[in-house]
Amino acid sequence: MDTFTDIYKQLNAVPGLCDSIGMEKAMAFIQMGARLKDAITIAQPPNFQGDTPPSELPLNIASFLASAAEIAPDFIHGCWTAFNDLIWRYDGDERVAKALKQRGLDGSISGRMLFPPTHHCTEPGCTNKKQLRQKHDALHVVLYTLSDGACASFAHTLTCDACHTRYYPNYSVKDSMRTYYTTIPETIQVGAHQYIERRVLDLFINLMLISWTSATNGARIYDTCLSKPEEQPSEMPEWAGVSFKLRNEHIWDGRYAALLEDHERRGKTLRVPHTGEQRFRFTKAMNERNARIQLLGQPQWGHYCNQCLRVWEDENGDLSKIHVVVADGITIGHPCCGIRHCPVPLANNRDRYCPDHATEEKICAVEGCDVPRDVDNGFLTCSDPDHRHLETVHKKRDKAMFQLRTRVARSGVSNPENAFEAEITAEEFEEMELPDGE
Ligand SMILES: [Zn+2]
Ligand SMILES: [Zn+2]
Ligand SMILES: [Zn+2]
Ligand SMILES: [Zn+2]
Repeated sequence: MDTFTDIYKQLNAVPGLCDSIGMEKAMAFIQMGARLKDAITIAQPPNFQGDTPPSELPLNIASFLASAAEIAPDFIHGCWTAFNDLIWRYDGDERVAKALKQRGLDGSISGRMLFPPTHHCTEPGCTNKKQLRQKHDALHVVLYTLSDGACASFAHTLTCDACHTRYYPNYSVKDSMRTYYTTIPETIQVGAHQYIERRVLDLFINLMLISWTSATNGARIYDTCLSKPEEQPSEMPEWAGVSFKLRNEHIWDGRYAALLEDHERRGKTLRVPHTGEQRFRFTKAMNERNARIQLLGQPQWGHYCNQCLRVWEDENGDLSKIHVVVADGITIGHPCCGIRHCPVPLANNRDRYCPDHATEEKICAVEGCDVPRDVDNGFLTCSDPDHRHLETVHKKRDKAMFQLRTRVARSGVSNPENAFEAEITAEEFEEMELPDGE
């Protein structure tokens, strides 16, 4: 039996033991002892059966438990005698996990609930010192974790009675503005009902950088290998309609974690509008960051030396310069306006021109020709035979065999088996250096 009376009887048999350890040390002893069951077993003589615990602990385990649970070595044997039965059949961790999944989820309780990091209002100027109140029901959400798969969870929000600021797990909202917490949470919200662990987002970022995995394939990898569908409570009525599938939009939405990190590094607070569409929420903050990185974020941007810059005087006495650009042979374009050097971003990545140059869409595609194109017949050029010829040749090439060949070649370049091979080695670098004075 393991009633407190029985345990007390056994502990009390060792003078001084009951006065020196309490529940905390006893629990540490039991939990660690249970994890070491196999190690205790293999130290026993060959005739040991394993149904009941040995009467003595192996010396190394006894001394480990003494120091790890902070129990005096003299009391270890007394503790083992009192708790060894319990330790031998301990299933505490599994029991907790099972109870949370089976009965917890019905009562809005899960092993990984999401709360704001504060229980008191932190709004500057607010005098409310009372605990924040829960005025809205917790939301049913899916939390994508690395170790436990896609978990059913609940996201709680708390509200300040005085200034009406509402605190969410990742940010607080006041006057339609979102203020993200300065310490980045371990779980990032990526949809109305979806949160992702930062470790999972890191995995996707590295999949993209190292093996050029698309967000769609990243989501597929997660769903196939990590999501643990057998543990999802789909048979519970409350969760029956909830999708535990990770979608590529969630991965893309998680990119704003980079903005959070950028703000945390600089000791700044990220503020964005709480209203409006999710896809536009971070545009302004992202543009500001890009502009800052462009201007200040690259320590080498102003670099020049005798080896990478040559200046010469032409026949008119004017000075000219040529600056070396080093590339790895793989060029990745980015969607931009068809008008050369136009800095206005496209409204949609599939557009050919920015909103300012949208009228160009109606003009012949041949450079220098201002005649409207033949829109009705689906041509990009005007009716000038030379211009039309250019277009038909271009379209033919799209369908031809050699286009297939270049596609294959291109796919070989864009999907290297080992992404690091594209990196420059020290020897290659030496070869590229120019002798001084040249
Ligand atoms: Zn307040
Ligand atoms: Zn240089
Ligand atoms: Zn433009
Ligand atoms: Zn034309």
